[in-house]
Amino acid sequence: MSEQRQGAVKQITSHSNPIVKEIKGLVAQRKHRSQSGLFVAEGLKLATDALAAGWGVRYLAIGTEARDNPIAQKAAATAKARGALILEVSTAVMSAMTRKDNPQMVVGVYEQKILTAKDIEPAGTGPWVALDRVRDPGNLGTIIRTVDAVGGAGVMLVGDCTDPFAVEAVRATMGSLFHVPLAKVSKDAFKALAGKWPGTVAATHLKGSVDYRTPQYAEPVLLVMGNEQQGLEDDMAAACATLIRIPQAGQADSLNLAVATGIALYEIRRNQLEL
Ligand code: SAM
Repeated sequence: MSEQRQGAVKQITSHSNPIVKEIKGLVAQRKHRSQSGLFVAEGLKLATDALAAGWGVRYLAIGTEARDNPIAQKAAATAKARGALILEVSTAVMSAMTRKDNPQMVVGVYEQKILTAKDIEPAGTGPWVALDRVRDPGNLGTIIRTVDAVGGAGVMLVGDCTDPFAVEAVRATMGSLFHVPLAKVSKDAFKALAGKWPGTVAATHLKGSVDYRTPQYAEPVLLVMGNEQQGLEDDMAAACATLIRIPQAGQADSLNLAVATGIALYEIRRNQLEL
């Protein structure tokens, strides 16, 4: 981390400032995120969500356009009180740190939080979703957002998954990253968890013989989803009591992973969700 006093305010107008370089490194490379345990989330909404949910914040960069915005000012005051360094950056520096198509007024750098298998205690009613080697950050972010929407308990990342703290994944969660517990588990740890899971363990599978609308799902459900290209590995499918399938018409081989997850989750939660 750069040598800067936390809980202070710093003006930055130069692209070559070391903190700007550090933030760009966190956006660009998983290695930097893993080594530092930090990640970047763009936008005022995500800053508000992160701060309200009590996530650790290292930097909050505020662009020129946001200086007079009361919500941004409140976010900056909260972050500063929690020890973050507040960066007042020029428009040019802000656009160098965020996406070009939709420049943001606020960029935050937060501390990663991820559970391990031993932290997972299946209880309550909300489903967990286990993802086998999910590759696409947009799919992962969308699934986290959907798990949040159905009142899910969390998302397990099984095996070699895309980084949930990549800026594209974070963006796709639309803030749900800060509300849905995430866990990283090995395949063996997943099988052990599935073996003693107290509710229904249901995997979606293109060879599933059970229509996803027919099981009596016992809470808490563990919904298991396969990889985008290869589907679910055989040994993982064997660890699941029920293989469910979503019927399809037309010529598509399969549904998009995030779409299939959403369809299954809404069926699983059919009797719990009301307008
Ligand atoms: N070629 C892959 C295969 O053979 O499984 C396609 C994978 S699909 C894009 C990604 C995941 O979404 C699947 O592993 C499964 O979990 C889920 N999925 C997609 N369409 C489905 C369907 N019609 N029924 C059940 N699961 C489905």
